[in-house]
Amino acid sequence: MDFPQLRAQFPTLEQTLEGYPLCYLDTAATSQKPNRVIDAMTQYYHNNNANVHRAAHQLSSRATSQYEAVRDQLKGFIKASRREEIIFTHGTTESINMVTHGLINQIQSGDIILIDTAAHHANIVPWQELAKRSGAIIKPIPLTDDCRIDELAYEELLKQKPAIVALCHVSNALGTLNPVNNLVAKAKATGAITLVDGAQAIAHLEIDVQAIGCDFYVFSGHKMYGPTGIGVLYGRFDILDKLEPMMTGGEMIKAVSFDVTEFNILPNRLEAGTPPIAEVIGLGAAIDFILALPKAETAQREQTLLAYLQNQLTGLGDIHLYGANKNNIGAVAFNLASEHHQDVGILLDQQGIAVRCGHHCAMPLMQSLGIKGCCRASIGVYTSKEDIDRFIEALASVKEMLLD
Ligand code: PMP
Repeated sequence: MDFPQLRAQFPTLEQTLEGYPLCYLDTAATSQKPNRVIDAMTQYYHNNNANVHRAAHQLSSRATSQYEAVRDQLKGFIKASRREEIIFTHGTTESINMVTHGLINQIQSGDIILIDTAAHHANIVPWQELAKRSGAIIKPIPLTDDCRIDELAYEELLKQKPAIVALCHVSNALGTLNPVNNLVAKAKATGAITLVDGAQAIAHLEIDVQAIGCDFYVFSGHKMYGPTGIGVLYGRFDILDKLEPMMTGGEMIKAVSFDVTEFNILPNRLEAGTPPIAEVIGLGAAIDFILALPKAETAQREQTLLAYLQNQLTGLGDIHLYGANKNNIGAVAFNLASEHHQDVGILLDQQGIAVRCGHHCAMPLMQSLGIKGCCRASIGVYTSKEDIDRFIEALASVKEMLLD
């Protein structure tokens, strides 16, 4: 892999901030976009802009084929068994809300919903809303001291026969990786419906939804080198087919009269209204981008970089790492002594370093760690060893400023 050539495909990275070259370590919040994605969207608007599905004219059929081709691409990309199992949404948040709304008739009062303590708020709050409406009970799955799912406690909870088990694949705050195949298999054995939030896994790992065995797998385009405003809800066909649509209107119907409306079949039934067409096309280009990377080499490179990042942080002293482990994916969470994470973030930004500071939309996780927040540095395919070195150098100077 020619790394400089790869990195040169990301125009945003070629800028300076405060006189320093941008050092972007916030990929977990959103990844930068390669020219290929930007160009695909521009090309669509230049040449093929039309609404999908509805018209007899050629522009619309071109737009429709481009749009529907991405569904086929996604089917292969995450190894779904049918193209109808791929629903386009606006992002992970919407995908999860579609599930929580869609299950309303299948959840009874007193049903148990188990949620990973490390879950992002997007995988907590919609379940709480479902619990409010149905009378279901939310129970967090506890973590061990090293921030993994406590499997013994999980197995105890499964004995209560939960209706739902909601997990994250990779924690956005810590980068910890859940053994989802194993966790899902245990949940399925008790009859639970399972959802895996893959927002932080999709850009880094090869995903095989059938091997994971989950009922739902969700992710966002913007975290996998694609555009914002596009996400995916994968659902196993039979369960997806039973979801009540969260949105109704055009596109999702077969026939409408004032007396009765007949809904369309999947996937249209769950895609009401004009979809984000350019964004879907951009997502297709992002998949092409990922598939063109040498898989094993890229994964190895990211693991080596992350290990280097963890080691360099530890070597700095006065750094507390949270849940750091050699198997983590893409991110490292830390605090500098007892300094406020926000102060550290602002001082790093003054040297052109972009990291994220705060609760990372994972307040229950922060509570379980006994902190209000932390800093997170996260990497992508374009991150270089020089980025890490610059970050560590800048953090050393912040440490000197704040602690000495
Ligand atoms: N889940 C996880 C694990 C995430 O990292 C994020 C984004 N930070 C979300 C859900 C929500 O994604 P989006 O904002 O794209 O809907």
